[in-house]
Amino acid sequence: MTVRQIPLLLEGSFQNSSSTVRQPVRNPATQAVLAEVPFATAAEVDRAVAAAKEAFQSWREVPAPARARIMLTYQHLLKKHHDEIAEILAQETGKTFADAKGDVWRGIEVVEHACNISSLMMGETVENVAGGIDTYSMIQPLGVCVGITPFNFPAMIPLWMFPLAIACGNTFVLKPSEQDPMTPIRLAELFLEAGAPKNVLQVVHGGQDQVNQLLKHPDVHAISFVGSAPVAEHIYKTGTQHLKRVQCFAGAKNHMIVMPDAQPQQVINNLIGASCGAAGQRCMAISVAVLVGEAKNLIPGLAESFKSLRPGIWNDAGAAYGPVISARAKARILDLIRQGKEEGAKCEFDGSLITVPEYPEGNWIGPTLFTGVKPDMTIYREEIFGPVLLTIEVDTLEEGIALINANPYGNGCSIFTASGAAARKFQHEIEVGQVGINVPIPVPLPFFSFTGWKKSFLGDLHAYGKQGVRFYTETKTITARWFDEDIAHAAPNMTIQLK
Ligand code: NAD
Repeated sequence: MTVRQIPLLLEGSFQNSSSTVRQPVRNPATQAVLAEVPFATAAEVDRAVAAAKEAFQSWREVPAPARARIMLTYQHLLKKHHDEIAEILAQETGKTFADAKGDVWRGIEVVEHACNISSLMMGETVENVAGGIDTYSMIQPLGVCVGITPFNFPAMIPLWMFPLAIACGNTFVLKPSEQDPMTPIRLAELFLEAGAPKNVLQVVHGGQDQVNQLLKHPDVHAISFVGSAPVAEHIYKTGTQHLKRVQCFAGAKNHMIVMPDAQPQQVINNLIGASCGAAGQRCMAISVAVLVGEAKNLIPGLAESFKSLRPGIWNDAGAAYGPVISARAKARILDLIRQGKEEGAKCEFDGSLITVPEYPEGNWIGPTLFTGVKPDMTIYREEIFGPVLLTIEVDTLEEGIALINANPYGNGCSIFTASGAAARKFQHEIEVGQVGINVPIPVPLPFFSFTGWKKSFLGDLHAYGKQGVRFYTETKTITARWFDEDIAHAAPNMTIQLK
């Protein structure tokens, strides 16, 4: 049987790459090969940028309401194909169907935001900045923008990027994760079906070499990257050295503070979903519960609830989550669990040896709970990116805040409490970009921006919301005067307005 070849979207059509370097795309629950993804040749990457550059000349002239109308049609098509996209996504990521639908839905919301582009691109005006002179600003697109995306949200994260960039009047080259490229290609097919003109979007596949070529390409203006922290650092340094505008969303270690007055069952339910949902492969997953004072009494109930969770295949309605993305990711997580035990943390519930008998080849990891964790342990310092929850006990809220602020990451955090005063202190003092109050995974909807801090974000302007529009545009300021009579005399001096 021939294996499906994932095409590139190049110069307006889906075409097979001429590359001889290919990688299988596997179902992580069965290891079945779903397709093969090519690593685009250098010439193909160049062609993608050249086609996007040429398309920019005409696309930038298309009126904003006409660009918005394409986004409206796209939103409609994504909703119509929601289940179908989620099924593709679930097969190649292993996510449960419900979680896969959530991945697509969070992307659709960003497309909805992009439908509002005419208002989002409004400039500012001040009349009479000096006698008879007005100043106004307008927002214009940049040119060719590039998106490099991770495996863990193959619908949502590409949709954070290309619809907004293109709605702003840019053209776009997407380099999706080589681990799950089937979903992004389906998103691109629907984008063309929605009436996007030929060449405004190109999709090239690959890894390090293709990314490096894009980072240094003289015709690329802006780079959006989402992925692990070490790669983010490389992307940020290389992109900015080549004078690109760069935003990098990177790894995380997200904490939840549990105050003694929090409702116990609410805490347990929310912690389970936030730590093990999507097999812990969410950048906003809670991986550390910080138990303040008597909140430590929640541990037996938490351990009991962990025992009731089981992973399974995407269409198993009883499964709490699916396999991790690859055998390599599984081996890395198992190694971290082993180190946690060796370094003295107590493994209350160990998911290392779990099996799913119907799918013995799957990259399964059972829910794993560590207590007595200390900040110098490897499991605390490293991002685990698996269904593993650590607990740390502290005596006071102040101690909990200090612990979180000392962590180099700053993507998300939350507090569970019945006290408004504790919540307000937390929201004010915590050095993390996204804060939940009795909300475990505080991902902002797209009219706000996704605002990671510290090592979780490199750059200035964040994703989507108003900041996303600013990232993909340049501001032009115009100072204008109109004469209704001829000049009486020349005035060579710089004039100042004293009153
Ligand atoms: P990754 O860094 O391995 O890969 C991300 C992208 O970079 C892929 O497209 C990949 O092909 C490319 N890449 C990989 N190595 C490269 C290299 N050496 N040079 C250039 N490009 C390279 O990340 P992943 O494993 O796909 O995704 C998981 C990571 O992403 C986690 O660390 C997670 O926290 C992070 N993430 C962060 C956010 C956020 O908003 N902060 C969101 C989602 C995921």
